[in-house]
Amino acid sequence: MIESAQMKNDTPLRTFDVETIRREFPVLSRSVHGHPLAYLDNGASSQSPNPVIDAVDDYVRRHHSNIHRGVHTLSQEATALYEAARDRVMRFINARARSEIILLHGTTEAVNLVAQSYARPLLRAGDEILITHLEHHANIVPWQMVCAQTGAKLVVAPIDSRGEVSVAAIEALMGPRTRLLACAHVSNALGTVLPVAQLVQSAKSRGIATLIDGAQAVAHMQVDVRALGCDFYVFSGHKMYAPTGVGVLYGREEVLERMPPWQGGGDMILTVSFEGTTYNALPYKFEAGTPNIAGVVGLGAAIGFLESIDRPAAQAHEEALLAYAHATLGTIPGLRVIGTAREKAGLVSWVLDGVHPHDLGTILDQDGIAVRTGHHCAMPVMDFFSVPATTRASFAIYNTFAEIDRLGASLMRALHLFGRGAD
Ligand code: PLP
Repeated sequence: MIESAQMKNDTPLRTFDVETIRREFPVLSRSVHGHPLAYLDNGASSQSPNPVIDAVDDYVRRHHSNIHRGVHTLSQEATALYEAARDRVMRFINARARSEIILLHGTTEAVNLVAQSYARPLLRAGDEILITHLEHHANIVPWQMVCAQTGAKLVVAPIDSRGEVSVAAIEALMGPRTRLLACAHVSNALGTVLPVAQLVQSAKSRGIATLIDGAQAVAHMQVDVRALGCDFYVFSGHKMYAPTGVGVLYGREEVLERMPPWQGGGDMILTVSFEGTTYNALPYKFEAGTPNIAGVVGLGAAIGFLESIDRPAAQAHEEALLAYAHATLGTIPGLRVIGTAREKAGLVSWVLDGVHPHDLGTILDQDGIAVRTGHHCAMPVMDFFSVPATTRASFAIYNTFAEIDRLGASLMRALHLFGRGAD
């Protein structure tokens, strides 16, 4: 058994205390433009705690080698670390088997894989893929591409003025030609939590396959893919305290079994000759080429970290932060929150009268506050609300109420700078 930082990080932190949590994240102690960093851009990418940094460091310093193919010690150690991370992912989302966990580069790659390997062989002209109006481009464009390749049609379920999607509206669009429902668990532009359990159930009862984009969900709530019953669930490591360039495609084994490989290359084969090739078993059939081994080790450590804290308490902390952020933003003159769904998670987006989001982002940055400005890779959402862009604050377990106070003060400063503040 090899000793690694990843395997050592099993000691629970016991109670949820934000200051204890913050000490695990080295970057939070730095300053930006002379102010302590207030990092409120976690929806784009979250920071990594010491156990993740240590696990990646330990892997690179002591165990790095290619996986699955060497008889030498380092290769076996690297393989053990990589596969241990897969097991952690399996338990993290309560998958039935490790064969259901495909380790990829991220959500985007996972959706593309399902579009090309599941949908493309299945779709006939006139078939339909159903998505919603609030999807990230990663859950729109791969479906547009496969529709163009097959003659299938993309059907888009509407959102309402709160940024909610109703089950009835989606059900109304489920027809005899609907082959797949692909929707977000949590919207990255609005924060809306979608009723995914009901949607999956509804789709299943009509024989429609389901893909849930969990990129904005897994860091904020406990996900149980078996309870959800979806066919596919996809997410990225870098939004849940792991490094970039690593993500997960969960697929139900019987569905994955029927799918052809997507990319060809090393590791996804059993035998190769010029006459023909036989493919490897799941999950390796979908993991062609050398993966991001260090990233996967980091993902395993991020899960270990999340398992070591009191997650319900962390979730309650984040919900309290979100409520406090809404209340704080509600005091800013001329500010309109975009996305007022009754169930939200992780983030709040807004526009401020007379101040372009990019200018606002720059002013906030001068005060040491990192937020996201732009269309958040969800241009149809911006069109729906008739705004070119929004400013978005997105939260993680390490954020504090004091940081939200600073956000409020900085927004007031921006208003004064633009001559819009009350005298
Ligand atoms: N889906 C949602 C809801 C997202 O928020 C994101 C990233 O912001 C993605 C998909 C794409 O994730 P990645 O760029 O890690 O592949």
